[in-house]
Amino acid sequence: MNPGTPESAGVLTVDLDAIASNWRTLRDLHRESGGRETGAAVKADAYGLGAAVVAPALAAAGCRHFFVAQLAEGMALRPLLGPGPMIAVLNGFPPGADENAALTPVLNSPGDIAAWSGTGRDAILHLDTGMARLGLTPAELDALAEDPSPLRGLQLLLVMTHLACADEPAHPLNAAQAARFAAARARLPALPFSLANSAGIFLGRDFASDLARPGCAVYGLNPTPGRPNPMRPTVRLAVPVLQVREIPAGTPVGYGAGWTAQRPSRIATVAAGYADGYLRSLSGRATGRHNWHEVPLVGRISMDLSTFDVTDHPAIGPGSMIELIGPGNSPDDVAARAGTIGYEVLTALGARYRRAYSAA
Ligand SMILES: *Cc1c(COP(=O)(O)O)cnc(C)c1O
Repeated sequence: MNPGTPESAGVLTVDLDAIASNWRTLRDLHRESGGRETGAAVKADAYGLGAAVVAPALAAAGCRHFFVAQLAEGMALRPLLGPGPMIAVLNGFPPGADENAALTPVLNSPGDIAAWSGTGRDAILHLDTGMARLGLTPAELDALAEDPSPLRGLQLLLVMTHLACADEPAHPLNAAQAARFAAARARLPALPFSLANSAGIFLGRDFASDLARPGCAVYGLNPTPGRPNPMRPTVRLAVPVLQVREIPAGTPVGYGAGWTAQRPSRIATVAAGYADGYLRSLSGRATGRHNWHEVPLVGRISMDLSTFDVTDHPAIGPGSMIELIGPGNSPDDVAARAGTIGYEVLTALGARYRRAYSAA
């Protein structure tokens, strides 16, 4: 982009150095707690930041184990990562579906185990210890412990489980899940195991494992809610002002006439709306930033546009950029105002933003 050429859409700037640094921080913390390896969850396009760039940057930082949710995500990632790293597909997939991509299926049910039994392939066995979502139920584990023959002809790399409440350190389900997981592992052939997500890495030695699977903290979300965020911020989102309109007091702005100017006002219309993941529930609640000045979002967020009251900031005009996410306005802050979590803010980040990556 030439300097002086105005942006026509939002620019999402992703700091690859901060992402690599966050990953190393998590790896070191996991090691200090007695853990071995640390991988990274890069599902949902690396939480909206662009897996095609983020995953290779993590590989360059030393990450050798990647987790995606779906087969297609893994297929797209393999050519970018080369043959070495493990790419595990959390939702599983049928044998043969990955062609030559050498993906690692997570086996979430007896049916998955039966489908892969005898293929000789690498796989991960998922046990449900308290989420009632995916993974073998306690009864299904009982049956497998009694008759482990379906595991024959499978290279189980890991046995894993997933914590439901790791971001609430005092929640009793954390210790219960760790205990159930240890008891379950004792009934199966000895295998490396994988336990903690981002928040789990901060729970200490009882949650250390052979392979941690952090996602959100790699991307700068706070894995320790209620305490200062130990991670570096990784994203800034700035959107261009398309027009600035002078309106007299009493003029309504936007759909539903949801906001009315109480004084003569200047309204800046920017090129981002709920179709870009600027959540409609932020209407009337969010603020943007321009040169460190806060500007309030006014009126309802539309599909492609949003409106800000820039009356007190005469320097803002067409082509100015308003920052929707950045320092002082983190994805977690935006999420709190939208009544959701930072994960949803990041994974909703629109495909129409230009993604600009700083070097790792
Ligand atoms: C998404 C996911 C992770 C990563 O969780 P974060 O809370 O983002 O660190 C780890 N394991 C599983 C099974 C997941 O689905």
